[in-house]
Amino acid sequence: MDKNSTPLITLNQSLHASGRRMTSQRALVLKILEESTEHLDAETIWERAKAQDERINLATIYRTLIVLKEMRMVDLRYFARDHKREIYEPTSKPEHYHFTCTKCGNITEFSTNRINRMRSQLQNEIGVVLTHTCVCLEGYCHRCAEKNTHNTE
Ligand SMILES: [Zn+2]
Ligand SMILES: [Zn+2]
Repeated sequence: MDKNSTPLITLNQSLHASGRRMTSQRALVLKILEESTEHLDAETIWERAKAQDERINLATIYRTLIVLKEMRMVDLRYFARDHKREIYEPTSKPEHYHFTCTKCGNITEFSTNRINRMRSQLQNEIGVVLTHTCVCLEGYCHRCAEKNTHNTE
């Protein structure tokens, strides 16, 4: 195998470990997610996938996302406490968190080592092993917060 294709080798190994094959549809969905700078829900992924492969339907997109999640290549995230907004992100993205504005729906991404610090602290204090941390941050973005103080609505 080519020495320069390290990411590909890693990819093949993780595929092999999960016992799943990388089909063209799975590769397409993953590519759409990795190339996107925005956060995508299943419908948006479907619209972009259709442009490449018109036979693809929404049910296939959902099935593909479930498999990619099982393969640990995609993360499902909820952007509101009501869990009505589901978006998908490739796990290749570095760890980050989201703030959702409940007024305009804007999502701000940020990373912080404070949450990691809190995790290790908690692990020691309560003697557990954390495998997943969900952080839900909601409120007003700076634009909406400004409007709120200036308007008397
Ligand atoms: Zn806002
Ligand atoms: Zn994100």
